[in-house]
Amino acid sequence: QIVVLGSANMDLVTRQPRLPEPGETMAGTGFATGAGGKGLNQAVAARRAGADVVFIGAVGDDGFGRELRGFLEAEGVAADRLATSDEPTGIAQVSVLDGGENSIVIVAGANGESALADGDAAAIAEASALVVQLERPLPLVEKGLSAARAAGVRTVLTPAPVDPAAALLLPLADILVPNESEALALSGETDVEAAARVLSATAGTVIVTLGARGSLIARGGEIVSRVEARRVEAVDTTGAGDTFVGVLVAWIVDAAELDDAVRAATAAAAIAVTRPGAAPAMPTRAEIDAALA
Ligand code: ADP
Repeated sequence: QIVVLGSANMDLVTRQPRLPEPGETMAGTGFATGAGGKGLNQAVAARRAGADVVFIGAVGDDGFGRELRGFLEAEGVAADRLATSDEPTGIAQVSVLDGGENSIVIVAGANGESALADGDAAAIAEASALVVQLERPLPLVEKGLSAARAAGVRTVLTPAPVDPAAALLLPLADILVPNESEALALSGETDVEAAARVLSATAGTVIVTLGARGSLIARGGEIVSRVEARRVEAVDTTGAGDTFVGVLVAWIVDAAELDDAVRAATAAAAIAVTRPGAAPAMPTRAEIDAALA
């Protein structure tokens, strides 16, 4: 099974012509809530791709927390390691402006919990892979990665949102999956191939995702392959990277070769970008298999 240690947020999405000025109250044109957070999204992507998934996270003792727990359970993600914190459930307040640009405020709330709960390390030690991102405190991510390393469990790190201090975690990552801007920021390089080479000298395998340009795989300081993206009509690329990672790991724990896992992840992400939303847009195993056939 795959253990995802990460964030769960309630996304609060308003549509509006522009951002209000300080002190201004303005009318929006639409509102929706949805389950989100990079951890939850990657867990759902892996689960829909057919993997057994355990989610380690924290929500508040509030309505949003109960909704997120119910969402994970309805997807078939094991939520018995989802803690209930004294802090409120994390939220992402997303303002979608006319013209399509997003402005986002994240309040970590319960996601700020930096201790592993009793039993979390044991759950990680029993996993086939541990999947982490950086929407939880770095010390917590480090504890999770160290617990996995100590048990010989494969580790997959998405360095997002990017934090220069995360360079410390690279030696603990068997697979590092940054997007282009994260790869540049983490490596200090200005060229993405140089970034992939540099990062792969410290982390294990590095897969840099390049949006509609596909992805680049590096290992041991060298570029080893490239995978083209699929040509699709993208309507919403939110969660493309999370779909990619979840499906990649689902294939890897199923003993797939890395290149085959990247091709499956690429096919799945291409489906996700043709539909609105992040987690709701993620494809099922049958849809991924059909796209690969
Ligand atoms: P993130 O969402 O983390 O910024 P990317 O934008 O690099 O990540 O996208 C992750 C993967 O999703 C890409 O490697 C690609 O396979 C797929 N993808 C993203 N955008 C598109 C697109 N417009 N068309 C086809 N595939 C896409």
